[in-house]
Amino acid sequence: MAYLALYRRFRPTNFDKVIGQDVIVKTLTNQIMTDKIGHAYLFCGARGTGKTSLAKIFAKAVNCLQPINGSPCGKCLACQSLNDPSNIDVIEMDAASNNKVEHVREIRENVQYPPINVKYKVYIIDEVHMLTPEAFNALLKTLEEPPKHAIFILATTEPQKLPATILSRCMRFDFRLIETKKLHDLVCEIYDEIGKEYTDEAVTAIAKAGEGSVRDTLSVADLCVSIGDGKLSYNDVLSVLGATDLNKLNDIVKNMFLGNIGGVLTATDELLALGKSIGVLVKDLAGYLRDLLVVKTCKTAKEILSLPDDRFETMLSTANMVNEVRILRSLEIVSGIENALRFSTQQRNVLESALLKASTPENDGNIDALLSRIKTLEDKIKNLSSEDFIKPTKVEVTSTVNKVEVAPVVTKEQAPIVKEEKPKEQLPPIIETKPIIKETPKVEEKPIIVEEKPAQITNVEPIKPSVDARRVWGTIVRKLRTMPGKTILWVACQELSATISGNTLYINVTGESEKNLLLKDDNLLVIKELASSFGDFDVKINDGSEGEVVQNQKDRVSEFFSDTVEIK
Ligand SMILES: [Zn+2]
Repeated sequence: MAYLALYRRFRPTNFDKVIGQDVIVKTLTNQIMTDKIGHAYLFCGARGTGKTSLAKIFAKAVNCLQPINGSPCGKCLACQSLNDPSNIDVIEMDAASNNKVEHVREIRENVQYPPINVKYKVYIIDEVHMLTPEAFNALLKTLEEPPKHAIFILATTEPQKLPATILSRCMRFDFRLIETKKLHDLVCEIYDEIGKEYTDEAVTAIAKAGEGSVRDTLSVADLCVSIGDGKLSYNDVLSVLGATDLNKLNDIVKNMFLGNIGGVLTATDELLALGKSIGVLVKDLAGYLRDLLVVKTCKTAKEILSLPDDRFETMLSTANMVNEVRILRSLEIVSGIENALRFSTQQRNVLESALLKASTPENDGNIDALLSRIKTLEDKIKNLSSEDFIKPTKVEVTSTVNKVEVAPVVTKEQAPIVKEEKPKEQLPPIIETKPIIKETPKVEEKPIIVEEKPAQITNVEPIKPSVDARRVWGTIVRKLRTMPGKTILWVACQELSATISGNTLYINVTGESEKNLLLKDDNLLVIKELASSFGDFDVKINDGSEGEVVQNQKDRVSEFFSDTVEIK
């Protein structure tokens, strides 16, 4: 006996076996059970969603003598007579090949005669949108007022091509694409029945390849049956589908994310050398990027994609190289060239330029590229450790400033409270400063003014505490500019900062070259001389051990703001 394709062998014979069209099945069975059967139906939907199968079941069900829950029993005389392919009571017509007005006229003439063995004569017209306008017109009258014993079921994948006059005369049912999960279960069921061993990932890959169509899914499943004798694996399915090797796709994408243009082009070249067509490669690449996006953004990605563990791990590590904006941008670029490819005679150029564009967001001025770069920066900032900032010091500073502001305004009674907050402070010195505070008229306006005065009076330390390192350093750099032979030093110093701690001016360097430049010739001496106009400073290089910088800054800042209290 000739081999019967799986999708024909496992075609549903009653409503219970139909998958994915629950609403339609329910409506139709209800009509049968309540005997409210219409005379014209329109089944719309993508190929392989069960339109013809349901039409055949419905044709049997309306005629069945003892329907079970609306489904044909399959045993009664009517069912048996309709099981015979040569019966003339259920007429199937393919409008794609019988689209002329004569074909419809034939129907019109025959429909007058009642059915021979059953109650209803059912006409199933497939691909009805292929009828010519004349044929549609010829059908109109019959469709509107058919004889009582006639039922028309029109099936089409493109309902928008039907004239409104036809649409308005039919009861319309829109068939949905079947969920991958349901297709997966169907394939499992069929493989179990025919005794084919399989892995779950393999069946999921088959179900996905079907893209919502039972017929397409079962066609792939059919091809996979004959692959090897053993257990059907994920890779077997990929080879049947002719899908691009995922490792090679991953190579392209990884290099794309690294910005390694050479790597991208080499990996692409390897794939094309295997005879892969550019169109298929673009489709596979877009699919892969889409999956990466799922891996990157969904917690349940593993279940959604249903991939073997090792493959999932590979994808996860690739997805973690970049942020989701970057992946999305790459996906948009790759899937965006599908149209261009169709009209191009230089397909390879189109593909390669798109891949380069996706690899180098930094060369791209459009919003998506910029967003991708901003997101990368944001992520970097987020990942910086808190130690990279001197934030805590700043907090201390503001609080100290507050205290300083409070101090001048308050009276003697409140003053001791300020003292208590300061460690190691002795009562007497602060009491001494208070009269001074009172004496100064501008006390309430600015704490800094207050600071200067006690400093001068007590003379414990020179001007140092009130000296702002930025101001000192800024002046030094400005002066360097006018000095002959110090242009390079001036340029370098513009990029540097300085801090003051005690009597020492620290120049903060971040690299060896800056340090070497400062140590060269008399550079440090020159700077020391320039600094001397602010006081007697020792000039040292702070060569970038972070702790030291932070410590110095802390010293500087606390000195600068809290000296009112420090001064004895
Ligand atoms: Zn029956």
